[in-house]
Amino acid sequence: MAVWNLGSINIDNVYRVPHLPAPGETLGATEFSQGLGGKGANMSVAVARAGARIAHIGAIGRDGKWTAERLMEYGVDTRRIAELPDHATGHANIAVADDGENQIVLYSGSNTAISEQMIGVALAEASPGDTFLIQNETNGQRVGAEMAKQLGLKVVYAAAPFEAEAVRDILPFIDLLVLNQVEAGQLEEALGSPVHALGIADVVVTLGADGCLWLGPSGNEVHVPALAVTPVDTTGAGDTFTGFLVAGLDRGMPMRQALDLATQAGALMVTRLGTADVIPDLKEIEDARFG
Ligand code: ADP
Repeated sequence: MAVWNLGSINIDNVYRVPHLPAPGETLGATEFSQGLGGKGANMSVAVARAGARIAHIGAIGRDGKWTAERLMEYGVDTRRIAELPDHATGHANIAVADDGENQIVLYSGSNTAISEQMIGVALAEASPGDTFLIQNETNGQRVGAEMAKQLGLKVVYAAAPFEAEAVRDILPFIDLLVLNQVEAGQLEEALGSPVHALGIADVVVTLGADGCLWLGPSGNEVHVPALAVTPVDTTGAGDTFTGFLVAGLDRGMPMRQALDLATQAGALMVTRLGTADVIPDLKEIEDARFG
């Protein structure tokens, strides 16, 4: 089995500034760091760390070669990541002020220049029973989900960043929907229906420090409590949770077992500062002795 992730790849440029710049102000940054980001890349790393086979489907610009190399170092199959010389790699310019406030300029760049053909060529190598994973930071979600479904893949949608239209568009193809509590509320409001009544086999609503709720195919509701840890940085918790859940299911675990694994990964992740580069692996989760 394998996971095929149609996902964003971003360059995160992080600037430390004395205060957030005012309109028209030129402000010197006191520190700079650059890292791998994007929900898609984070999830691919998490799936790899969770021990499943993962191929990333996406696009980078000429300036982003190192991002694909980093993904490869983390165990992700990067052969279906296209290099588009006429586009900038997706990036986030993040200003973090000394008081902790931040300001982010996000440019989707090559993440929204993925051709239908690129997705088709990648999925032609998939096998029935594999998983097609998508988030809302690339184009091609609907066409990809439709193709994947036809090929007998299981479609998992992590509905973030949330956009009701995007979910509505691919609703008929989704086998598993993962979203946080805020996104679940937004979806219920937009569609005028509770998430458990959307006709999706499995829905998982993550609840931060309160764990998650699994709404299963037979109308069953299971609450999985979070593990007690002292959070340091909750960035990337959701992406790590989803990656481990998808990897667990792909490796043949029953839903409850995969949710337990994802819960452990999410808990360990919030004790770490950073995103893709600090996503834990199976050994670290075992060593943390949660269970
Ligand atoms: P998102 O980052 O998408 O908003 P959540 O904050 O709901 O997602 O976190 C995803 C999962 O990570 C949760 O379901 C939980 O298992 C774990 N998690 C998040 N925050 C904490 C926390 N403070 N303590 C323990 N586990 C956490």
